[in-house]
Amino acid sequence: MKCDVCDSNKVTVESNSILYGKQYGTGKCFYCHDCGASITQATGGHPKGKMASKNTRILRKTCHNLFDPIWKYEMKISRSNAYKKLANKLGIEKQDCHFSLFQTDMCLKAISVISEENWWMK
Ligand SMILES: [Zn+2]
Repeated sequence: MKCDVCDSNKVTVESNSILYGKQYGTGKCFYCHDCGASITQATGGHPKGKMASKNTRILRKTCHNLFDPIWKYEMKISRSNAYKKLANKLGIEKQDCHFSLFQTDMCLKAISVISEENWWMK
């Protein structure tokens, strides 16, 4: 597997403790030894999205923190409709609209949309 960020071939499966200091979830991640980008390894052994730099990982987390409460806890809109609405605002297909696929530019675009109050109603 090649790195999604720098195209390097030096991507190996590592314990995700190298990222967090402690092992989480499946405990494994794909890690690029050239640029430090990573992505969680899913239960089936495949990468759970596109590899991301440390800053992109922080931005993806910010996206989830802004986006998830509206469907998860506040239940103002269904998860599916929330992603559909966001995809529409970002001008991308719904199947491409997941934060684990976004690199920095798309995360920033998404943040500017979902940081507005009641963005899903507009
Ligand atoms: Zn890389």
